[in-house]
Amino acid sequence: MGFQMAKDEFNLLLKKLGKSNRIFAPKLYKGAGKFSDTDLVAYGEINYIDDIIFDTKTSFSAKEIVFPINQTMFYFTEEEYREPAIDERGIIIFLRACDIHAFKRLDAIFLENGPYKDNYYEKLRKKVKFFLMECAESFSSCFCVSMNTNRTEEYSVFVRKENDTVFCQVKDNDFLSVFNHYGMTCKDPVPDFVSDNTIQVKIPSDISEKLYNSSMWDEYNQRCIACGRCNISCPTCSCFTVQDIFYRDNPASGERQRVWAGCLIDGFTEMAGGHGFRQSKGDRMRFKAMHKIYDFRRRFGFDMCVGCGRCDDVCPEYISFPGIINKVYETSTEGGE
Ligand code: SF4
Ligand code: SF4
Repeated sequence: MGFQMAKDEFNLLLKKLGKSNRIFAPKLYKGAGKFSDTDLVAYGEINYIDDIIFDTKTSFSAKEIVFPINQTMFYFTEEEYREPAIDERGIIIFLRACDIHAFKRLDAIFLENGPYKDNYYEKLRKKVKFFLMECAESFSSCFCVSMNTNRTEEYSVFVRKENDTVFCQVKDNDFLSVFNHYGMTCKDPVPDFVSDNTIQVKIPSDISEKLYNSSMWDEYNQRCIACGRCNISCPTCSCFTVQDIFYRDNPASGERQRVWAGCLIDGFTEMAGGHGFRQSKGDRMRFKAMHKIYDFRRRFGFDMCVGCGRCDDVCPEYISFPGIINKVYETSTEGGE
């Protein structure tokens, strides 16, 4: 159902929704960019529609809302442990089609990967409702069309801001009464989805064994500096490590946390006794590429990478992940697929 309202009315609607929900959207952090005197656009809680940055891709994804960078799993003493209380409010996230697809990947990893669901993820994830932001045009590093993540129907509300008017398409009955209260019905606005990106990739349907020892990975031994920025910015990277923190005033008590980890970072595969798999950065890059465009698909039936291009946006060494995907295709299909 379509609704339109003035920005002020939409702000009242946000205020009303904010009583029972935390509302997250792309937001401007002045001066927090990676270079001096640059800004950062990243997810944060918003109160007004003008807080939302509609025309810039966030450097980091919305995944940290349901999979926090540091998350206390439980507090412990010598005798007992207990899980922290969680905020009872719902969670509304403004995001684009590719990022909604990214949540489908996180759901597969945390909820459908074996007999047990990840309890910590599930508790937050089931509170989430998606408010779609459209992409009238592709950003320069996106390749969502090749990854089939440029369109989606999986949202509760679609929101378009046009000057001082807000147009919405409400698909989720839970929101109908509040939109009816603050808006006027109108023709359903139809979201724009990009149908073309400058960057295209080809994904091989099968991977040749020769890829394992291919010289294509050697380049990354030199170029990649193992900073892990590509992992941290990726909306589908979901690895974490676990650490116990013992409090100084009583070392027999503390908390267990899980903390993001990344397959490009030193120490990721380190085991007891100092043994580690994938010591070279080329090996790590091969592992990441295979996970994003092959292994995950074999398990879940769709690729892990959603083509958001964030890894390219943040890499200090200008390593192109779609470039890697296309090299994998070429190496795998030499002599015909
Ligand atoms: S691998 Fe790169 S392009 Fe693919 S989902 Fe992750 S950040 Fe986006
Ligand atoms: S961001 Fe670039 S340099 Fe850093 S780990 Fe990833 S590929 Fe390597």
